[in-house]
Amino acid sequence: MTPQTSRLCSLEFFPPRTPEGIEKLRATRCQLAQLKPAFCSVTFGAGGSTREGTLATVLEFRDGGLEAAPHLSCIGSSRESIREVLNEYRSHGIRHLIALRGDLPSGSADVGDLRYASDLVAFIRQETGDWFHIDVAAYPEYHPQARSPGDDLAAFKRKIDAGANSAITQYFYNPQSYWHFVDACAAQGIDVPIVPGIMPIGSFTKLARFSDACGAEIPRWMRKKLESYGDDTASIRAFGLDVVTELADGLLARGAPGLHFYTLNQAALTTAIWQRLGL
Ligand code: FAD
Repeated sequence: MTPQTSRLCSLEFFPPRTPEGIEKLRATRCQLAQLKPAFCSVTFGAGGSTREGTLATVLEFRDGGLEAAPHLSCIGSSRESIREVLNEYRSHGIRHLIALRGDLPSGSADVGDLRYASDLVAFIRQETGDWFHIDVAAYPEYHPQARSPGDDLAAFKRKIDAGANSAITQYFYNPQSYWHFVDACAAQGIDVPIVPGIMPIGSFTKLARFSDACGAEIPRWMRKKLESYGDDTASIRAFGLDVVTELADGLLARGAPGLHFYTLNQAALTTAIWQRLGL
């Protein structure tokens, strides 16, 4: 593998809901801190459902010596409640966040005051000026609700024009979709870093469920191979490590500005890929 030293490599976590989850994440954090990530991001549940947990997790990461960035999603929330969260983040000296629309929980009809992530980015800039470095989401295989690839690219551009500084992609296993997206962005004059999201593979059933929900494609050859392992977790993980390491190595070799790992609060697979890449 090519040694990769100057790229921005980060890790994503979710706020744990149980005392056991909190303990487990502490152990994971200690292991992953050794990788010296550029930052750790912590997801935010729609409608503010994890507001306290997200902040508590970010603060705990910071206490552990890591740079930490909370996510903030706007769907189902009022301007006032988002203003409160922004003020809370600011009062703790947090200067980096990931701004998202989020998804409405099923059965919920109230979209709230801000309909799209571009509205949230504009609101954050209006309220807090340049205080935050704002990351937004990007979709090389297009967002599942997008009317067309062109509309989705226009929606992405709106987020950048509203003041986002950089982007992190949904995960993908087909690198061509990423390069095609990056080229399409460049053609639109979008010049912010677009960091590929990397999903390690630990379980085929979980990956298939996630991928169906978020519109990320598992290429047929990978799906067939993963299916063929049945309950043989060791083979699934070994295959996943090879495929994902090769994907990530190719992305960095061709000039991707970094990698953002979806850790799912687990240390082993991310550590193995990171070390194989020589990050
Ligand atoms: P948007 O950019 O607003 O786009 C959503 C859809 O609306 C797209 O189809 C877009 O094409 C369309 N659209 C946008 N603007 C317009 C417009 N003006 N008119 C018509 N259509 C428009 N979810 C969480 O709940 N919490 C998290 O912490 C979280 N973290 C994430 C981190 C990353 C890196 C990624 C990739 C996703 C994350 N998600 C998270 C999931 C995300 O919230 C969902 O994918 C959600 O469905 C879309 O969010 P968005 O910010 O991309 O939305």
